[in-house]
Amino acid sequence: MLQSAFSQQAPFASCLQAKIGSLTNILYAPTNPSYAPTLQEFIKNSRFNQTTTPKPNYIVTPSTYAHVQAIVICANASNIQIKIRSGGHDYEGISYTSIESSFIVLDMFNLRNISVNVGLRLAYVQAGAQMGELYYNIWKASNKLAFPGGVCPTMGVGGHISGGGYGAMLRKYGLTVDNVVDAEMVDVNGRILDRKSMGEDLFWAIRGGGGASFGVILSYTVKLVDVPEIVTVFRVERVLEENATDLVNRWQYIAPVIDNRLFIRLLVQPVTVKPNGKTIRASFIAMFLGNSQELLGVTDKEFPELGVNKNDASEMSWIESVLYLANFDNKTKPEILLNRHSDTVGFGKRKSDYFQTPVPKAGLDLIFKKMMELGKIGFVWNPYGGVMAQIPSSATPFPHRAGFLWKMQYSINWKDAELEKDYLNQARSLYDFMTPYASKSPRGAFLNYRDIDIGVNHNGANSYAEGKVYGEKYFLGNFDRLVKIKTAVDPQNFFRNEQSIPTFSAR
Ligand SMILES: Cc1cc2nc3c(=O)[nH]c(=O)nc-3n(C[C@H](O)[C@H](O)[C@H](O)COP(=O)(O)OP(=O)(O)OC[C@H]3O[C@@H](n4cnc5c(N)ncnc54)[C@H](O)[C@@H]3O)c2cc1C
Repeated sequence: MLQSAFSQQAPFASCLQAKIGSLTNILYAPTNPSYAPTLQEFIKNSRFNQTTTPKPNYIVTPSTYAHVQAIVICANASNIQIKIRSGGHDYEGISYTSIESSFIVLDMFNLRNISVNVGLRLAYVQAGAQMGELYYNIWKASNKLAFPGGVCPTMGVGGHISGGGYGAMLRKYGLTVDNVVDAEMVDVNGRILDRKSMGEDLFWAIRGGGGASFGVILSYTVKLVDVPEIVTVFRVERVLEENATDLVNRWQYIAPVIDNRLFIRLLVQPVTVKPNGKTIRASFIAMFLGNSQELLGVTDKEFPELGVNKNDASEMSWIESVLYLANFDNKTKPEILLNRHSDTVGFGKRKSDYFQTPVPKAGLDLIFKKMMELGKIGFVWNPYGGVMAQIPSSATPFPHRAGFLWKMQYSINWKDAELEKDYLNQARSLYDFMTPYASKSPRGAFLNYRDIDIGVNHNGANSYAEGKVYGEKYFLGNFDRLVKIKTAVDPQNFFRNEQSIPTFSAR
C-alpha cells in the first residue's frame, strides 16, 4: 500500500496557500472546529461515521476550478492521496475514507451550478450538484424534458454519472452516460480538459468507468430527453399467499421485453404479516411514460396476471414521478429537490448481480425460503431490455447490455450499529446462495453499487492483478481498455482508491 509520510502534510497546505492565497473556508485541518461537521455533512452511510473510521488529514472545499487545479497539483507534489466526494453516496464510503494512512478529501459541494438550454435540449451541470437539483432545474425550464438519472435526489452528479447511473427511464433512454455529450475535468497535471482536449478515449472512460480513477470531474453536459406531460405510476404488492412467486416468475419473462416506456421495478423482502407470520412480499413499482389508459392497455395485454387496475394507476407529471419514486408523500412539492439533506441516513450494505436467464420457479421457492430464514435481507430487480439491449456493450465502460435481463441489488438497512455483523452476513449469505442463478465468468456487478467484498486494490505491486478481480466484474471486456487509458493518462496512479482502475505496470 502506498503511504505518504505525515511530514508530507505541511507541504500540501503551504503549496496550496502559495497557489491560492487565503485557505479560509477552503482547507480544514482536524483542529478546525468546522472539520467534523464538514466531513459528516455528506456521509450517507453511518457505517463510515464511527470514531474508528479513518479520517482525512485535510478536507478541501474548492469553490473555483482554479482551486481544484491547485489542489491536484499540490497533492500530487506532496504524494498524498486525494479522495473525491460529490454527493457522498458511495455504498462503501470510499469517497471520504481510505486504507492509506494519509489522504485528503476533496469535496465538490461548492461547485454546483446548473444551466438548462431548452432550445438545444442540453443541461450543463457541475459535479457537486445533486441529481434532484438537476431534475428540478430541467422541470422549471420545460415540463416536456427530463434526464434519465437515478431515483435518489441527493446523489451527487460527480459520482452518479461517472459511475454509469440509471433510473426509471433506462429502458427507453439508457443510462446517464448514454446521454452525456461533454465533460470538464482536471487531470493529473492540473490541466482543465473538455471533450475535445481530453480526446475520445478519456471521454469514453469517464462515462461509466468511474471518474475517480482518471481525474476530478468538474461538470457534465447532458442531453435532455422527451417526456410526456402525463406519466403514470403504480405499486402493486403481493405476498406468497397471494401468488407472489408466480408473479415474480412471470415478471422475469415480461419486464425485460415489455413496451420500453414501462419500467417495472421489483422489490422482494421478508415481512411478518398476521395471521400467517413470516412471508415474502413482492412489490411491483412502475413508471410508465404515458397516461393510465395507455398503461392499462399494455399491462392488460402483456402482464394480466399482475392485475393492475384503474385505482392502482396514478397519473402525474414527470417531476411528480421523481418524488413518488423517491418515496416522498403526494403532498410534497418539487422544491424538496433543492433540499440537499432531504434524505435520512442510517447503516446499510449493498451488493449486486446480473441475470442472463430467468430463475426457475423451484429456484425462486428456495431463494424465498432462504430469505425468510435470514430474516431481513431484501432485493431489488431492475429490468433491462429496451434500448439497453441495443446499445453496444463497448459503447461506454458499462458493459451489461444485450443479453442481460435485469440487475439485482441486495439491500439491507439498519439503525443500530450492533446489528452490523449479522446484517453483513445476511447480505453475503444471500449472495452466495444466488451463485447458481447469477451471471457467470465473470459474475457481473454494478460499479455504482460499490461492494468491496468483490475485491480491494492496495495499489502496490499487485495492482493490476488485484484490479482485474473486481474490474472484470464491473466492466467485463471493457476492463483492459480502461486500464490502457488509465496507463496513458495517469501512469503514476495518482488518482487511486480501493477499487480504482489500475495501470498496466505496478506503481
Ligand atoms: C440512497 C441511494 C440511492 C441510490 N440510487 C441509485 C439509483 O437509483 N441509480 C444508480 O445508478 N445509483 C444509485 N445509487 C448509487 C449511486 O449512484 C452511487 O453511490 C454514486 O457513486 C453516488 O455518487 P455521489 O457523488 O453521491 O457519491 P460519492 O460518494 O461522492 O462518490 C462516489 C464515487 O465517485 C467518485 N467521485 C465523486 N465525485 C467525483 C468527481 N467530481 N470526480 C471524480 N470522481 C468522483 C468518488 O471518489 C467515489 O469513488 C444510490 C445510492 C444511494 C446511497
